[in-house]
Amino acid sequence: MIGSSVVVRTRSWIVLCLGLLSVGTPAALAADCPGHPDALGTSRTLVVDPREHPRIGTMQYRETLPLKDHEVVLTFDDGPLPKYSNQVLKILADECIKATFFIIGSQAKANPEGVRKLVAAGHTVGTHSMNHPLTFDRMPIEKFEPEINGGIEWTSAAMTDPSSQLAPFFRIPGLMRAEGVENYLISRGIQVWSADFPADDWRHVSSDRVYQLAIQRLEAKGKGVLLLHDIQARTVAALPKIIRDLKARGYRIVHVVPATADRPATPTTPVEWLLHPPTETTPIARWPAVPNFAFTQTRTLPAPSLADLNAQTAHEPLLPRRTKAQMDVASTLSVPGRDLFAIPEGSVEVLLSTTLSRRAATRLAMAAETPRAARGKPGTVKPGSIRAGKPHTAHAAHGTPKHTAQAKTVSAKTVAAKSAAPKSAAPHPTRVASLKKRAQ
Ligand SMILES: [Zn+2]
Repeated sequence: MIGSSVVVRTRSWIVLCLGLLSVGTPAALAADCPGHPDALGTSRTLVVDPREHPRIGTMQYRETLPLKDHEVVLTFDDGPLPKYSNQVLKILADECIKATFFIIGSQAKANPEGVRKLVAAGHTVGTHSMNHPLTFDRMPIEKFEPEINGGIEWTSAAMTDPSSQLAPFFRIPGLMRAEGVENYLISRGIQVWSADFPADDWRHVSSDRVYQLAIQRLEAKGKGVLLLHDIQARTVAALPKIIRDLKARGYRIVHVVPATADRPATPTTPVEWLLHPPTETTPIARWPAVPNFAFTQTRTLPAPSLADLNAQTAHEPLLPRRTKAQMDVASTLSVPGRDLFAIPEGSVEVLLSTTLSRRAATRLAMAAETPRAARGKPGTVKPGSIRAGKPHTAHAAHGTPKHTAQAKTVSAKTVAAKSAAPKSAAPHPTRVASLKKRAQ
């Protein structure tokens, strides 16, 4: 088998590299899958140490498996369920593909033979909780610990072969990650597996859609961990097409196994655990690390005093303070006098003219000026003064005799209104209305 021949059983880099090169050709893959010359095969086995890289899968984490371009890891969740798991096993066997299965404890309990078949076929077996609750992101340790342990215990119990070993790999149900859960798993040396892309095979979509999503999402990233389920008919239907297309597009399958005392981890560099390592020509993006601490209390502390800040109070403050004199000034302005709003005699006509036609404004101005001149107020217009009266005369001359007569009528009315109204600086509203009406 290709995979076993490439398992890194030596620390020698040279042997590793030669081995990878020797199995990288399609001819070598076909030769190692008896009866299936066109099989995709498994190109190499990757040995990982969960303690060195405890969280993998770019769907949720910074790091993922140290795959090379066009390398794919197949993973199957939620089994074993004989009806579909056995078909998936057959398809993988025909292609000489090694995958990783994340077992549900209750499924292992109900179908231990299914777990043994996986082990016998050489696949990697991790766990996926006891009952698959989708609440790992909000469960206390009292709840998630028995879920994790139940899955491990029942899957281990099904593995009767003493040579078989459960991989310390765990995938949180529904990928409902939580730091408390991750930290608990990591403290026990268990690697938390997310994925690089799913194919949505747990949704109500066609098998064609599952196939399309698997390929499209893989092509978008160029490599990675594919998340599938071996308990769905659509997955069984889509899997052969996915595998055929992977081969046609030049993808290679990688089998992942955990490091043990006699099987050291495949040598890697930290940058290989990034999906797209930064290069000299691309800017380095700093990963926004999630704060790895918890507040002991939610109570807010009081604001620090000046003394706490070690400030020297003898210094001038940065912001100017109010002086004593400023503080004595009333904070509100005084109420303005009534005179401020008084409109001088005649001004109302000018104000109105802004909304009237020019001819109407002219008539209003004449009407306003005429009584004033008639009264002969000293200091404004001297009686008989040609110079002072000229502008008004000239202005009035522009109008027709009819208009002049009309203006006189208006001015007479105005005078009458004025004499009737009490002496006030404010114009009488009735007078304004009548003037406006006449002007139209
Ligand atoms: Zn699941």
